[in-house]
Amino acid sequence: MVFAYDSEMALQSAVELVNTDGDPDDLTSVADLDEFYDRWRYTGRHERTSAEVTSVRALRPRLREVLTADRDAAVKLVNAMLGEVRLRPELVRHEEYDWHLHAVDNSAPLAERILVETVMAMVDVIRADEISRLSVCADESCGGIVLDLSRNRSRRYCSTACGNRNAVAAYRARQAGE
Ligand SMILES: [Zn+2]
Ligand SMILES: [Zn+2]
Repeated sequence: MVFAYDSEMALQSAVELVNTDGDPDDLTSVADLDEFYDRWRYTGRHERTSAEVTSVRALRPRLREVLTADRDAAVKLVNAMLGEVRLRPELVRHEEYDWHLHAVDNSAPLAERILVETVMAMVDVIRADEISRLSVCADESCGGIVLDLSRNRSRRYCSTACGNRNAVAAYRARQAGE
């Protein structure tokens, strides 16, 4: 494990959330958000309204910015985001998560809690000087974010779909070159 379990989950869910913002957009309905909430085992306030969906969708470009920033730029963004919310740190334990920090109250809006969770995870990433674990997908037309938690830091594509497509393209290029 590169980071604490809850940090890795927060990073993975944030990356997945940002990567829904593509063509097609995979986060457009209350049902989509419900599915995301359940799958990542969020707890706390969940309104199941289109306003909540809108606020989580609006979060995506902001998360993208911090997840793809270089280390010093990420520090600035993290500090700005931490200054935006009323923090009330508390150690909690729920579901499969051992003791970890919730930095805001469970009654805060979902989008705010996702933002703060991501920011707290980025604090770990910055402190460990592991920002190179985050990159943009090597597929030229993709733009998805890649979180590489592998031991040998070999991950270049955001998804198996992107990886396979590029493997096929590279193979064809080699064949054509013969
Ligand atoms: Zn938690
Ligand atoms: Zn990709």
